[in-house]
Amino acid sequence: MSTTKFATKALHAGHDVQQTSGTRAVPIYQTTSYVFNNAEHAANLFSLSEAGYIYTRLNNPTNDVLEQRLAQLEGGIGAVVTASGTAALATALLVLLKAGDHIVASNSLYGGTYNLLNVTLPRLGITTTFVDPSEPTNFTKAAQENTRVFFAESLGNPKLDVLDLEAIAQQAQAYKVPFIVDNTVASPYLLNPIQYGANIVIHSLTKYITGNGTSLGGVIIDAGTFDWSNGKFPEFTEPAAGYHGLKYYEVLGAAAFIAKVRIEGLRDFGAALSPFNAFQTLQGLETLEVRILKHSQNALALAEWLSEQEAVAWVNYPGLKTSKYYDLAQKYLPQGQSGIVTFGLKGGFEAAKKVANDSQLFSLLANIGDTKSLIIHPASTTHQQLTPEQQESTGVTPDLIRLSVGLEAIDDLKADLATVFAALPVEKSV
Ligand SMILES: *Cc1c(COP(=O)(O)O)cnc(C)c1O
Repeated sequence: MSTTKFATKALHAGHDVQQTSGTRAVPIYQTTSYVFNNAEHAANLFSLSEAGYIYTRLNNPTNDVLEQRLAQLEGGIGAVVTASGTAALATALLVLLKAGDHIVASNSLYGGTYNLLNVTLPRLGITTTFVDPSEPTNFTKAAQENTRVFFAESLGNPKLDVLDLEAIAQQAQAYKVPFIVDNTVASPYLLNPIQYGANIVIHSLTKYITGNGTSLGGVIIDAGTFDWSNGKFPEFTEPAAGYHGLKYYEVLGAAAFIAKVRIEGLRDFGAALSPFNAFQTLQGLETLEVRILKHSQNALALAEWLSEQEAVAWVNYPGLKTSKYYDLAQKYLPQGQSGIVTFGLKGGFEAAKKVANDSQLFSLLANIGDTKSLIIHPASTTHQQLTPEQQESTGVTPDLIRLSVGLEAIDDLKADLATVFAALPVEKSV
């Protein structure tokens, strides 16, 4: 399977039909627990001297297939699926960090992630410095003696800035800290951050990977490339109090981190993915390639059309030649730039709110990556809690509309927005 192409892996990787009674579909193992052969077998599973299933908070055969499939699609050595994208990020960070540790993060982040780093983790003594990622050396400039992670989104939501992954990965490597990349908006088809030096990749499965808006989920994928014995991560080299003295790096080597995510992260924080949601995600993942290409095509066509509309002040899509991220998009996202488009209305906050309200075909809701087209006015919804300065740094201006362009016929999407624009009050030209 390792030499096959993306579409083949998306359909087959991680599923051995012989092990599931020949079922062509991956079955849903809707069970909490697994019968041990005998007391010795049970003891061996708990001591990790034998691999097997114990309890669905830790592992499950349906989740297992999804984990192996996603790890292969991102080029990682292992993966752990979680109850949501947020759970994936929180679990990864809490497995790595302790009170007194510090993160350097891009300032162009998903609103929920920004709050986790800016408000909630500081309560636990884990602080973050936010930097402008368009200058990669900003990460090292903001790094401190206690910095343990560099974090960024490969394609910022909703700023749509394309990260220079390779340059930031070099900074992280030189500083000897893992580089964690949230690759949700790009999806593993359009971009594999591990190829450019990311050490850990996070996805919200809720978005393009499941793709149909039915199920929350998340994943942590380990590249297996980080040296946990470099002196900054004693929890990986010294006997673990939480696991009968296990020395993670000595025993598990390259898989030390992803093993710790499962046996400590899932055990202690409990954000396991339901096997039913894993099944739903597997159905979506099968068609990710065809969908994300069509999402990208529709988004580019709509972005070009929006650029010509009288009511529109500006359009941001990294596939547009006018985008300041065009060159980086050509390097990192040459096959398509995903389905998110943002634009500003000449009529500002009120016009943007009206467009979000009046559109018929675009559903007004807080999600992205659905097959159906979605619309939101972040300044009055998802980013309402942020100060004007924070809104500015995350790329959210009062006039901004975010579209998640779906798979509907492009002419219908244009016609819907044209009707809404026609009903806006005419702006006096300046
Ligand atoms: C949605 C999203 C998340 C959070 O994922 P959930 O599954 O909603 O918890 C994290 N990062 C990005 C970029 C997202 O778009």
